[in-house]
Amino acid sequence: MKYLFIALIFSQITFSQVEYPKDYFRSPLDVTLILSGSFAELRTNHFHSGLDIKTQQRTGLNVYAAAEGYVSRIKIQHYGYGKALYVTHPNGYTTVYGHLQAFAPKIEAYLKAKQYEKESYEIELFPTAEELQIMTDEVIAYSGNTGGSGGPHLHFEIRDQQERTINPLLFGLDVKDSKPPTLTSVFAYPKDDKSTINNSNSRLELRFMPGKNNEYKVESIQASGEIGFSIGSHDQLDLAVNKNGLSNIQTFFNGNKKFEMDFFRFSFDESRHINRFIDYEYYKTKRTHLQKLFVEKGNVLSMFKDLDDDGYITVEEGTSSVYKVRLQDFAGNESWITIPITGKKPDSIPSKPENKKNYYVFSDQATTLNDKNVTVSFPANSFYEDTFIDFKVNNDTLYLDKDVIPLQKNVTIQYDISHFKDSEKDRLYIAELLGYKKYPSYLNTRRKENFLTASSNALGSYVLVLDTTKPTIAPVNFQDGKWLSKYRYLTLKITDDLSGIGNYRATINGKWILMEYEYKDNTLTFDFNDNIVTDTKNELKVIVTDNVGNSATFEATFFRK
Ligand SMILES: [Zn+2]
Repeated sequence: MKYLFIALIFSQITFSQVEYPKDYFRSPLDVTLILSGSFAELRTNHFHSGLDIKTQQRTGLNVYAAAEGYVSRIKIQHYGYGKALYVTHPNGYTTVYGHLQAFAPKIEAYLKAKQYEKESYEIELFPTAEELQIMTDEVIAYSGNTGGSGGPHLHFEIRDQQERTINPLLFGLDVKDSKPPTLTSVFAYPKDDKSTINNSNSRLELRFMPGKNNEYKVESIQASGEIGFSIGSHDQLDLAVNKNGLSNIQTFFNGNKKFEMDFFRFSFDESRHINRFIDYEYYKTKRTHLQKLFVEKGNVLSMFKDLDDDGYITVEEGTSSVYKVRLQDFAGNESWITIPITGKKPDSIPSKPENKKNYYVFSDQATTLNDKNVTVSFPANSFYEDTFIDFKVNNDTLYLDKDVIPLQKNVTIQYDISHFKDSEKDRLYIAELLGYKKYPSYLNTRRKENFLTASSNALGSYVLVLDTTKPTIAPVNFQDGKWLSKYRYLTLKITDDLSGIGNYRATINGKWILMEYEYKDNTLTFDFNDNIVTDTKNELKVIVTDNVGNSATFEATFFRK
């Protein structure tokens, strides 16, 4: 713990020396900069790594290189960033543009040649500094909605040479924001068995009222021992209704600083620790992010700074004190929260709830649990702290507690499937039961003889699912036997129940064609401008395979001149 603290202090010293150039990068769009998502705002399992810039509810806006440089990476995925472009600049920073609809012609030509060579839509390329050079103000792409995007926007990032992502607003991009952050909830937490808040030894929600000068007054509490707090909050910009994240949080106890968090920069490998920063159990049950104003064991986020006693306060008997929180947005607008605290031991010792869970996992040891035909393996440090968990297996359903305890590392789940018929073994997969409806969601499942194995990032319930249904394939904008001379695109709809689409392959007259898969509307699209079709009579063949290997084939003939 001591070493960690030294490392944190050291990283702050190095940060204070960093001066980000303010006039180097231009906005990647030529429309007013309005954000639907801010840097480091709280998302599921990660902090948001860039800015989400609104594109007037449409796709196809010009995307400009933020500065001169060269295309250093092109990544095309069905999910994630969709079509993404990385431009490396002479000053060492790399800008990233995600969810794009398409690229500028010279980049598009470079990409398509590689996709045809590899016979794959999904691809990752690292062009050399000479191959795709970019001038100042050059249009590099068109904005879109590809990948894991909930509506048209541009995802924009600036990364340093250590691949850490930095708030692009630190480089001088301007966003209008005159409103201070909004407080939505306040909670108090006892640190250990000896701490109490209003005679209770568990998390307690506190009432509050907005006051003058953006100050929130919280009801006074009686407390004893070491306690901490969490808040729910968001920030709204001037031209959008979206609930964005904060830029800085500080806390003070009787005027002394206890905690600061500065959301300016982070590495991707620390992003998952968001689950230790938020109240994970509350998020999973109430879908609301509570940000803890104290640092729990094992949370190595680099965005913490100036910690005193990890942000906890110690309340002495008979004292009157004040705990204050300052919430700040990037424009510097502030809201304050004031919590009066009286030091008073509880009238009676609160009774602890009895533990009814059947296993205890030591966090620093690897642990293997087994029941009937299921084995679950936790690598060392899967959990942040020693934890009681529930574990049992019933009729191929694995109950691995509930998804309310965060995991640092993935857990491996193995099923023995010897009791299934040989014909079924190839069509089984491990699914995680998600949501109120317990929908069986496919987990990437590997089979070795009589064992199926999958990895999961969460506790929860798991089942085996047998999928013997093949995908469906249907034409959208054409029919078999027709002339398609004036068509720009060929579009098909593909769906699969249960395990989901695994892969697809399309050919015309035996030659592989590039089809772009968009999972959000279940379409495969071929662009005739790829100039693959040269014959008059053409045989289209599309094979779609689901995640367990059920395969469907679609064939059609079309004519073109
Ligand atoms: Zn984004």
